[in-house]
Amino acid sequence: MFEISKTTIGMTDLLTISGRIDSINATAIHEVINREISYDDPNLVIDMEDVEYMSAAGLRILRSLQDNSGKVRIANPSKRVREVLSITGLDAHYDIYDSRMQAIHAVQPVTNAHTHLELGALAHKRPDVGGQDFVDWIVDDVSGGLTELGGGRHKAFSRAIENSITDLVAAGVTMVGDITTNGESIEPLLKSGLQGVVYVELLGTDPTAAISRLHDVTDMIEKHRHHIQRGMHIGMSIHTPFSVHPDLWEIGLDYCRQHNIPLCIHVAESQAEHEFMTAGTGAIVDKYYGVSNVLPPMTSPNKTPVQFLADIGALDLRPLLVHCVQVNDDDIKLIKDSGSAVVHCPRSNLRLRCGRMPLEKFLEQDIPVLMGSDSLASSPSINVFDEVEIAVALHHGKVAPKDIQALVSNIIPLNDNVKS
Ligand SMILES: [Zn+2]
Repeated sequence: MFEISKTTIGMTDLLTISGRIDSINATAIHEVINREISYDDPNLVIDMEDVEYMSAAGLRILRSLQDNSGKVRIANPSKRVREVLSITGLDAHYDIYDSRMQAIHAVQPVTNAHTHLELGALAHKRPDVGGQDFVDWIVDDVSGGLTELGGGRHKAFSRAIENSITDLVAAGVTMVGDITTNGESIEPLLKSGLQGVVYVELLGTDPTAAISRLHDVTDMIEKHRHHIQRGMHIGMSIHTPFSVHPDLWEIGLDYCRQHNIPLCIHVAESQAEHEFMTAGTGAIVDKYYGVSNVLPPMTSPNKTPVQFLADIGALDLRPLLVHCVQVNDDDIKLIKDSGSAVVHCPRSNLRLRCGRMPLEKFLEQDIPVLMGSDSLASSPSINVFDEVEIAVALHHGKVAPKDIQALVSNIIPLNDNVKS
């Protein structure tokens, strides 16, 4: 008895074979394969986790596949299949992966480079398609929403994280860049088999609390960074230019530099951020600072958010820069010269009335751009292909749809000494 099914996950075609592959049913199996797949499919993976037995007839099927397609990729081979491949020496000729996720990632990665899985607990606060002003959203919906969760926050976070991981995998995502405040997504992501980086977030404008917050964050990073598995790394997110005290920037950057920690920064997202950073006025001053005692006001550096990052040395660490909507040509040049990559989250930008990222300018400069969904508190799903759909409409006439589609396969760059 055998069963074969074909599914498409993300951009990979997956052929799952289970049962016995022997001389009695080999012809029938071969016929089904011939019917189900195209031999020149460049994105084919065969899942053999549930193959109980494979005889020489099974090897002939694999050989024929290799002769026709030039490549055989096997995910999850069962113990029996591994033995047969090893005895015959074929394991050296085929690409063999320990998990389905690894195989799919190797064939055609699909990256959601910006999530806050835990903020799925605030999905009920998401603005509708009419949108909500950025600062009102942070103050009323995010800060206010977290206060409302109160003691139930931990439970709500872990439920949201589990649901979102299920959704990411179902959407064919193989790599994720997630932001966590208290480390709650780290363990579930390590277990998920997804590749990528979990960035622990550093945030706070109060210099007296800076050191203890930094220690909380570095403790979380230290606890996990030596236990990373299968390509999931631990990084640091230094929240934004307007929400982190200069002292905290300095020691946070020092830590990342010394320990080669991947860094992620939200930057140039809203007009309010731009106004505060360049002129020291606007909704950040009027509404954001003072929303709670942990956010005393900061002084404007009177420069664009990207220029600020360049001047404090943050761009030297080639961080993953999220949003980059409110940027001018000089900012784009600074990003280009630094070798940093940027993340585009068009649906979140629209719902938070932040504007349109000038995607064509980044692509003209060959700056790596990745797609991200942002959190469910500002985006209606974490399916990065939904993000592509909106981006195609948003950049109509400026960026070709196929160039936007290709962005989902860009992978999150890591610092030089961070092994992949
Ligand atoms: Zn974000």
